[in-house]
Amino acid sequence: MDKKIILKYAILNAIQHEGKADIQAVLGKILSEKPEFRNKIKGIIPEIKKTVTDVNSWSKEKQENEMKKLGVTIEKKVEEKKELSDLPDAKIGKVVTAFPPEPSKYPHIGHAKAALVNYLYAKKYKGKFILRFEDTNPLAAKKEYYDVFLEGLKWFGIKWDRLDYTSDHIEEFYEATEKLIKENKSYVCVCEQDKIKKNRRFMVECKCRNNSTEKNIELWKKMLTTFKEGEASVRIKISMDNKNAAMRDPSIMRIIDHPHVRTGKKYRLWPMYDFATSLMDGWEGVTHRVRSKEFEMRRELQQFIQKAVNLKITYITEMARFNLEGVPSSGRQIREMIQNKQLTGWDDPRLVTLIALRRRGFDPEGIKEFLVSTGVTKTESMLTWDVLESFNRKMISINSRERKFV
Ligand SMILES: [Zn+2]
Repeated sequence: MDKKIILKYAILNAIQHEGKADIQAVLGKILSEKPEFRNKIKGIIPEIKKTVTDVNSWSKEKQENEMKKLGVTIEKKVEEKKELSDLPDAKIGKVVTAFPPEPSKYPHIGHAKAALVNYLYAKKYKGKFILRFEDTNPLAAKKEYYDVFLEGLKWFGIKWDRLDYTSDHIEEFYEATEKLIKENKSYVCVCEQDKIKKNRRFMVECKCRNNSTEKNIELWKKMLTTFKEGEASVRIKISMDNKNAAMRDPSIMRIIDHPHVRTGKKYRLWPMYDFATSLMDGWEGVTHRVRSKEFEMRRELQQFIQKAVNLKITYITEMARFNLEGVPSSGRQIREMIQNKQLTGWDDPRLVTLIALRRRGFDPEGIKEFLVSTGVTKTESMLTWDVLESFNRKMISINSRERKFV
């Protein structure tokens, strides 16, 4: 009889159950792997009892070391490996999180992580998770990209309680903008783009900033009708000498004369990213959100905007940008490489887009484990294909083993 097999399942079962193996469970596993033992149950039970008693008396470290000696990699449940840290002011049943991608690219593993973390937080607090397409740039939003996000996230096992589109709320953005103008919290700037950029850099106010509310309303109406693209934008009045450059009266609404994939030619004024995301978070009642660190400098501005329009402030925390060593992940970069034929497409096997991983036969559970293992932290870590692949192999071996035992 193979004592090694008994030992293997005893330790495996112990590790999966807080250090304590169960005799019946171990016996079941052994019989699944070695059906021929069915005839000798009486003979092996004392050995199992002895082994389980031994294993249960060992420390966690010893159990893991003995497992290594047997040449078996130890599997742990995701929840056991990394518990999501608590969110501030999070009450059970009251947490609303969101993942708001722009439909302008294929989702990659970094999007998957942002979606997963927010989804898991909603689950942790028995709250709601919103998937929102932030599609306020008609030049970027394409049907193909909405579809691949929906498909990719479904394959990845993410379930949303609500699916929302920022482009469904454009009227509300017009109302909010007009209100800000009337309250003298915003103004229409007719300066050239280059001049605005320079002024923001050198902290210089332009003369539009001091226009009367009446004048601003008049210009706003022109924006809705006769002004051409690039001739005017609405800027929120904060301060031009703010230390944070993002706070120097950024534009919140601009003209884009290009049909939108969902709304056609109905609208020509579109909210800029910060305005769009903070108002949508507020309107949807998003209480908490975890996102990638490159947005950190924008948090102050987004909170300012939420205050200006009397919305509740969304608690936002950032995590390190997700990168795999040597793999391009920025949408712009990938698009260029596809155009230059350096990549065969969004599903090129060298990429970590969900579609590429799916085509390569990656198991979504393996990717999830891998992502959760990287944690919600601001520290960048060097991640490699090898690590991702090792999670995938482990998961595939667990799955095939479990299937065999069912
Ligand atoms: Zn101006």
